[in-house]
Amino acid sequence: MALLVPVSWASPAVERVSFTPRADGQGYVVRIHTSETIVAYSEPLRSGDDVLELILFNTGLAAACRKDPPQGPVRAYELVQKGQHLHLRFSLADPQVVPRVYRDRETTDLLLGLTTPEVSGPVARHVEPASDARERWRLDTIVIDPGHGGRDTGAIGAGGLREKDLVLAVARKLGQYLEERLGVRVVYTREDDRFIPLKERGHMANEAGGKLFISLHANASRNRSARGTETYFLGMHKTAAARAVMERENSVIRFEEDQEHYKNFDERDLIRMQLIQSAYMRQSEYLAGLVEQQFAERVGRKSRGVKQAGFYVLWSASMPALLVELGFISNPEEAAFLRSEDGQAYMASAIFRAVRAFKHDYEKGLHLVSAQ
Ligand SMILES: [Zn+2]
Repeated sequence: MALLVPVSWASPAVERVSFTPRADGQGYVVRIHTSETIVAYSEPLRSGDDVLELILFNTGLAAACRKDPPQGPVRAYELVQKGQHLHLRFSLADPQVVPRVYRDRETTDLLLGLTTPEVSGPVARHVEPASDARERWRLDTIVIDPGHGGRDTGAIGAGGLREKDLVLAVARKLGQYLEERLGVRVVYTREDDRFIPLKERGHMANEAGGKLFISLHANASRNRSARGTETYFLGMHKTAAARAVMERENSVIRFEEDQEHYKNFDERDLIRMQLIQSAYMRQSEYLAGLVEQQFAERVGRKSRGVKQAGFYVLWSASMPALLVELGFISNPEEAAFLRSEDGQAYMASAIFRAVRAFKHDYEKGLHLVSAQ
């Protein structure tokens, strides 16, 4: 399927950072010179009043990187490699400056526009008043997506346990905990045994004003001893195993009547959609870590860890998004656990606790803390 075209990560590197005053005198442009096109980058994130951070995902720092002296509203700056990602931190002399990141049309470079508000006209009005910003960072609506449904049963496990039934049961419990104990609004993509196209799920989440999207699934393998939980966030699939899971979860598309939507879903769309998601990637990765930690430490499950994959359902939701594989229902022992009322309650409450911790950090602005 076109959807599954593997995309290898090119590894762009930053070779130079330079500063140019804008021709219209309304600010400065920081040019981030790169060897290749950067696939994904964050929105400029503010930490404190005068620090602006930009994350270039899967980007390196060239050995001979040239750092031009800072100019205009930038007082100082640094480039810090954290794992595979390059963080650019700008200390601003003028905290009022309005940042915007965009691609240069002629080169592979990335541009950071810093518009000075006094003379910037309509652009400056995009600055959010503090109360709006606070509102935006309130994790008040959570979308729960029980995978599969209707004619799409998902995986069939030991004892005939069906993925679509299991994930709906866990989704209901999770939703109940979130509503009752966290006071958030919960929106379900399905509340009964019905078929919902993947694309529709993300749209439902976006239309509901969701701040977080959690898709629930269960794994299956020919190897009946395979077991454990996995939590995915959107990214490029890196291992053959992650790819196999992705192919299975994406394969639901063949059940959908309107396959035209997906037919032209090619590499460019993949990159475009990843860009939309890149700002949420770090938050998703952080929450995924909390979920797996809860599964392992509080429920005693075998955690297979946090993984990245290109699930269509995660692409279509414009918010931090996770896909949780609750366990292998092909493993008789795990199937028995997941089928039990207690097992389902344990799994739901593990996810609930992770979301509660995430909500706390998120609303305090700690989402800016690196998920290294
Ligand atoms: Zn599934």
